[in-house]
Amino acid sequence: MRDETKCVRSGYKPKNGEPGVMPIVQSTTYVFDTAEEIGDLFNFPNAHMYSRFSNPTVDCVEKKIADLEGGVAAMCTSSGQMASMMSILNLCKAGDSFIAASAIYGGTVNLFAVSLQKLGIECIFIDQEADEEEINAKFKPNTKAVFGETLANPALSVFDIEKFAKIAHAHGVPLIIDNTFATPVLCKPFEFGADVVVHSTTKYMDGHALQGGGVIVDGGRFDWSNGKFPEFTEPDESYHGFVYTEKFGPAAYIGKARMQLMRDYGAYPSAFAGFLLNLGLETLAVRMERYSDNALKVAKYLKTKDQIENVRYPGLCDDKYHALAEKYLPKGCSGVISFDVKGGRDKAAALMNAFKLACREVHVADIRTCVLHPASMTHRQLTDEQLVAAGINAGMVRFSCGLENVDDIIEDIEQALDAIK
Ligand SMILES: *Cc1c(COP(=O)(O)O)cnc(C)c1O
Repeated sequence: MRDETKCVRSGYKPKNGEPGVMPIVQSTTYVFDTAEEIGDLFNFPNAHMYSRFSNPTVDCVEKKIADLEGGVAAMCTSSGQMASMMSILNLCKAGDSFIAASAIYGGTVNLFAVSLQKLGIECIFIDQEADEEEINAKFKPNTKAVFGETLANPALSVFDIEKFAKIAHAHGVPLIIDNTFATPVLCKPFEFGADVVVHSTTKYMDGHALQGGGVIVDGGRFDWSNGKFPEFTEPDESYHGFVYTEKFGPAAYIGKARMQLMRDYGAYPSAFAGFLLNLGLETLAVRMERYSDNALKVAKYLKTKDQIENVRYPGLCDDKYHALAEKYLPKGCSGVISFDVKGGRDKAAALMNAFKLACREVHVADIRTCVLHPASMTHRQLTDEQLVAAGINAGMVRFSCGLENVDDIIEDIEQALDAIK
């Protein structure tokens, strides 16, 4: 099936006489005839038993997302942050390290540099433009993963997935990709060698700014038996001697994340959250096309304005990342544009207030066009050096094109730019 079909039809498969629309199964628990059946479930988790492990509604959504990404299994989480955190905790413990591109989402930078640091896990940040030799030199014997973002929020740099997959694999570790902005409709990281994909489903997947969430998808191809990951191949005494590679086969990564991390941390989404996410996913393929079309038109318009210093949108032919975008994002580059206003921080702030249609909100990838000033809002916790490393200037505005008519979006920018002249 193609993406449009998967968006609408994957995951929930009603049997004869069952509801046509995926039902919300609002129950934390499941009833069985015998105690033995429940005992067996702990050995072969092939049915629902408790909400921290799984829920029938969420399960359907997980299957749909795994199908869209071309992975073998997925696990939804309560937020994108929790997906990123669990993707690392599933591989690293205190005393381990991992490598991450510095041009990733500011919230992830803080999670990796501050909160995981407190747990004794070191994040080694790298410039994703660095050459192979320089990147290889950053690996340590305790390095367990590499992490990058397909289309970085908000720098809009395009990550060379294939290059990093080769480097990570040469060091015997998996590549994790945050595919939030691209979504599987615009890019499928597994096709380029990535091993794990994470998303903040809060963004395009939900699409309507209704419900926060995250998901981790398992590509199913990494060899966990290479000696670096004994937790996958040796009995887990905290789960009655389970061996994840034996129990789950190619889906060992998600199996372990579910049985260890979700069981212990409990950051799972509700059935209703799963229902809302599915509703967003049903139109994802159609929406991504339109967001991308609108953004390319807006980006081209912004290039003609002399009040704008610099427009970043990889879909533009003269963008620094256009060649990578042609390889990784041939169908479009999403609805998000970053641009620098001439006059820096103050002019950017004035422009923010002059928009009439575009909503000022702490959000991105909404159905409504929305704007945000990273330096004073989402990324204010970053130091000046971290801001530069994340590709952010003080005058940068992140503009997220919605699904309104593109001429209305452009007219709003026009009047806002006139107002701050
Ligand atoms: C928003 C975002 C996150 C964090 O997701 P939440 O759902 O807000 O926790 C992670 N990565 C990227 C690229 C994001 O845009």
